[in-house]
Amino acid sequence: MSNKSAAIIGGGFSGCSYAYFLVKNGWDVTIIEKSNLIGGGVKTFFHGGHPFTYGPRHFIAPESSMPAFEFLEKVIPMRHIKKINYSYQEPDDVFTTYPLHQDDIGKLSCSSQIFEELKLLEASGESKAHNFEEFWIGRVGKTLYERYNKFYNMKAWFLDDNRKMDFGFEATVKRKPLEKGSRYEFHTGWINAYPIAHDGYNKYFQWSTEGTTKLLNTEVKKINFDKKQITLSNGEEINTDMIISTTSPDLLFDYDLGELKYVGREVHKIVLPIEQVLPDDVYFIYYPGPKETQTRVTEFKKFTNHKSPNSLITLEVPSLKNKLYPTLLKSQVQLAEKYIKRLPEYVHSVGRMGKYRYVDIDDILLDAIQFEKDYLK
Ligand SMILES: Cc1cc2nc3c(=O)[nH]c(=O)nc-3n(C[C@H](O)[C@H](O)[C@H](O)COP(=O)(O)OP(=O)(O)OC[C@H]3O[C@@H](n4cnc5c(N)ncnc54)[C@H](O)[C@@H]3O)c2cc1C
Repeated sequence: MSNKSAAIIGGGFSGCSYAYFLVKNGWDVTIIEKSNLIGGGVKTFFHGGHPFTYGPRHFIAPESSMPAFEFLEKVIPMRHIKKINYSYQEPDDVFTTYPLHQDDIGKLSCSSQIFEELKLLEASGESKAHNFEEFWIGRVGKTLYERYNKFYNMKAWFLDDNRKMDFGFEATVKRKPLEKGSRYEFHTGWINAYPIAHDGYNKYFQWSTEGTTKLLNTEVKKINFDKKQITLSNGEEINTDMIISTTSPDLLFDYDLGELKYVGREVHKIVLPIEQVLPDDVYFIYYPGPKETQTRVTEFKKFTNHKSPNSLITLEVPSLKNKLYPTLLKSQVQLAEKYIKRLPEYVHSVGRMGKYRYVDIDDILLDAIQFEKDYLK
């Protein structure tokens, strides 16, 4: 008797992870990947010999994601990292720790206003937030919101008003305690790690897809859900028992209810003639002001340990040219859910685009481990 067959749309971290569990359980797996390589957003590339990814992709997750970490670490040995983030406060030309450490408030020209607002919040107790703006003002007060969250969010999502960001905020908010004690406190109890290998996670993509058929430079043209048949961009037709789709669910229905919104990033690479650009424990700097187009700057050798007299930094600039982040507005999330609900049982929509959620590497692995238990055993 021949094996059951599965077609995987997209060969990124999700597609590769699901491929591994399917092959392990005896399925014939075909990966359909529109680009010329496997790995998607987590693939490591090189610029002047400096390893980098499109946006930093470290493993940062709460302790509950330990099964994902342990699974990954067996293939990709990881180095634990201890980092803090900076935020550049342009009006005062200073850097503060982000999330803000209470000792840094004094560096800001508006510090007395901030202290006053924090005191008022403490006295006022809890409130209910319905959107991004209400949420952050309720947690840190108006001045800190304007300094750290307001413009950052607007530029990151191309919004003209943060009150439009209305998904997942119907929560009770209580003043967020500022960071005290150690500056590393923020992620205490979290797993914060990066691959030791010079080429990052790349070996994972080879390892997890062993025994699969990979169709690169190939796109899905059409799916006949009743016939369980996929038509590819090269005209070929594939019959399959299961589909794992990591692409956007609207594409599977030819966008008949409308196109889902995404935001992307342009990543600008700059090599500087200096061994280390940022202070020892600072890997990222966030730029929350309205005058800077970039949202974040990363010094990659801090993650990769690359040895060179020079250092590669990247600037991430929000863009509508590629689809990386689902736009988490209620209307968009509901539209994605409508598409996903229409999928037949043999089609699983997974990963960042497939779930239309901001899922990270650990979430993907936990989902794939659970998928094996639920569908393959
Ligand atoms: C800038 C940025 C930084 C991030 N940093 C981190 C981090 O530090 N830590 C962390 O845990 N997570 C991070 N993430 C999230 C993490 O990288 C993603 O969760 C992960 O890459 C998602 O994997 P995926 O396979 O679902 O999607 P992708 O990595 O996007 O892969 C999707 C693949 O599918 C292919 N594809 C798409 N459509 C089609 C189609 N129609 N037909 C065929 N192929 C198709 C694409 O070419 C791609 O290869 C970051 C994300 C971004 C955008």
